[in-house]
Amino acid sequence: MSFIKVAVPGPFKDGLTYSCSATHNAVIGTRVLVPLARRRVIGIVIATDITPDIDTSKIRSIYKCQDSAPIFNEALLKLSNWMSIYYHANPGDLFHTFMPGFLCQGKTIKPDTVTSFSLTALGQNFDISTIKNAKKQVLCLQFIKAQTKITQALLQEQGISKAILNNLQAKQLIVAIEDEVVANKILSKKEAALDLNQEQRQALDICKKSLNSFQVLLLQGVTGSGKTEVYLQLIQEVLDSGRQALVLVPEISLTPQLFKRLKNRFVSGVTTLHSALSEKQKALNYLLVTEGKANIVVGTRSSVFVPFKNLGVIIIDEEHDTSFKQQHGICYSAKDVAIMRAKFSNVPVVLGSATPSLESIQNATHGNYKHLQLLTRAIAAHKPKQHVIDIRQQKLTSGISKKLQEVMSQHLLEGRQVLLFINRRGYAPVFMCTECSWVARCNDCDAYYTVHHLPNEFLCCHHCAATREIPRACDRCHSHKLNKVGIATERVFDVLQQLFPNYKVALLDRSNVSSNKKLNAVLDSINSNESQIIIGTQMVTKGHHFANLSMVGVLDIDAGLFGMDFRSLERLGQLLTQVSGRAGREEHRGEIYLQTQHPNHPLLKLLLTEGYDGFAKQILQQRQLNNWPPFSYLVLLKSISVQQQDAIDYLDKLYDHLASLRLPGLQLLGPIPALITKKAGKYRYHLLLKGTDRKVLHKAILHLKTLSKYANRKVQLVVDVDPVDVV
Ligand SMILES: [Zn+2]
Ligand SMILES: [Zn+2]
Ligand SMILES: [Zn+2]
Repeated sequence: MSFIKVAVPGPFKDGLTYSCSATHNAVIGTRVLVPLARRRVIGIVIATDITPDIDTSKIRSIYKCQDSAPIFNEALLKLSNWMSIYYHANPGDLFHTFMPGFLCQGKTIKPDTVTSFSLTALGQNFDISTIKNAKKQVLCLQFIKAQTKITQALLQEQGISKAILNNLQAKQLIVAIEDEVVANKILSKKEAALDLNQEQRQALDICKKSLNSFQVLLLQGVTGSGKTEVYLQLIQEVLDSGRQALVLVPEISLTPQLFKRLKNRFVSGVTTLHSALSEKQKALNYLLVTEGKANIVVGTRSSVFVPFKNLGVIIIDEEHDTSFKQQHGICYSAKDVAIMRAKFSNVPVVLGSATPSLESIQNATHGNYKHLQLLTRAIAAHKPKQHVIDIRQQKLTSGISKKLQEVMSQHLLEGRQVLLFINRRGYAPVFMCTECSWVARCNDCDAYYTVHHLPNEFLCCHHCAATREIPRACDRCHSHKLNKVGIATERVFDVLQQLFPNYKVALLDRSNVSSNKKLNAVLDSINSNESQIIIGTQMVTKGHHFANLSMVGVLDIDAGLFGMDFRSLERLGQLLTQVSGRAGREEHRGEIYLQTQHPNHPLLKLLLTEGYDGFAKQILQQRQLNNWPPFSYLVLLKSISVQQQDAIDYLDKLYDHLASLRLPGLQLLGPIPALITKKAGKYRYHLLLKGTDRKVLHKAILHLKTLSKYANRKVQLVVDVDPVDVV
């Protein structure tokens, strides 16, 4: 008997000690089923042959070992160790974040199989006439003989029942064969590598040179500059050396083109991991990589934990995207985790974007990241021309100015496509009574209901997804004078059909394009030119390429100019640049029209004249002046409770305690209510910790964590290190 340390879910910072016998074969990195109080849980072995520092008679034995070989290698164990310190998370909880649900539950996963039948040697030489009265059996033997091997499904279509097959198997005339289902059909034609321009070749060469060491490379390329081709050729190099590649994308359904190009280029060995897959499929794909059967993973943020056999490179596409940050549970940043993972695996990370985050720009400026720039558009001749439409004192038709209508007409008459961008889905953001100004609000959130018209009329809360029928009378004064106020995608959709009756309008937002199938249908209607007008939310900014699109109109940019979050302007700059990148990607020059009430806003002017780089430089200076990241570091403490006062009191206590520590370099901001204070029936309050360095923040949090008197079962505390949203 020996003793091991196991990381189990729950507040056990260093894992728990268990005993096991030699037959258990519990090696570091394997899953074990262990008792925990009255439960049975899956844990990960993190140390073996230890000398327990507690009474050995109290140590319980593990039930069994789930894996014959470790799932987690040394690099991943180091990563979990780093994450547990950096994100103040429990190792056992981390491993459960690392694995698909099936593996956390200790299930064994077998790939789906198809059953087929062949004749045995006996069956080959069997004289059918001896059973000629058993017509179905004869038929079955004939079918199998004709095909050599035939699936059970096909036999059943011919009226051959399970009983007949069993009968023939019992007579040893036929044999069943189980084949693994090949999930991804292998394409026959492999796409060849494209020619690179000078810049692409230089960038690729530098990436290739860093392949056997840790290095962060920031690949900044304007839309259409051919970043993807650089990724693909780099991956080829990695595969040629017998290693594997990880490609992280913000949302798989929104980046179908990258996945398709990988499939076309590498044909087999490409697999995906994202939330739209079934639990079983996730586990199967995960194991494919672990076993080295898949060499390329394209996935969303949790793919950063996939246990590669021999990782060679990590590529993060659209690195500025905030969906790389997990917003619940362990609030990790997949980008930062990927960088640490690369460090522990001694491989490079490539961060790709047309509009890098300010943090990445700052790191590149200071030489922490290698900055590679692709400035020429590989597939378009000209940069789009940008115009501002001043909408002060203008009458708008559902948010669309006369000028915008005129320009749209011109482009449409030339046979081009136009895109209108509005970052709000639904029909109208407010439903109100004109008599008493009552507004329909969600019962569980501090938020208005959004009016939806598609597929039929209803009210919906965008913070908790609660819905309600459209009231026929005001809740308060019972008046029937009810009004839908403001504009959103579906209203623009309606009005465009009236304004441009000869053209078809496509609508791309998350409410109306909720599945991959629907997305493909809409994309097809755009790419085949069946639809000429596109309305989209930020869904359209991610990687879609519309060849015939020559004009983009942005209906309202003002919310972004005056956002509450210190990152609002950065996001606006990224969004406008990304949206603009949709226009004029082929031979003709594109045009961008921005509607605003603030045409003279200095930062808007800067963005239009200097582009994203100059704009980013300017906001970085503002950040430095106001001491915001990347010039300071943040941890957001969120208290969540069904009782408002509990949530407030809790943070007040934490505040008092932290203030009494007088830690130099630590600034406490709050507690203040979250922007949406009540969400899904719970109240949320924020206490923001700002530090001149990370050390002081970790010191503060560690201090709180050791204080059991701050444990409170009525309040949930979320520790968000490096938050992306602070409101
Ligand atoms: Zn009313
Ligand atoms: Zn909605
Ligand atoms: Zn709600």
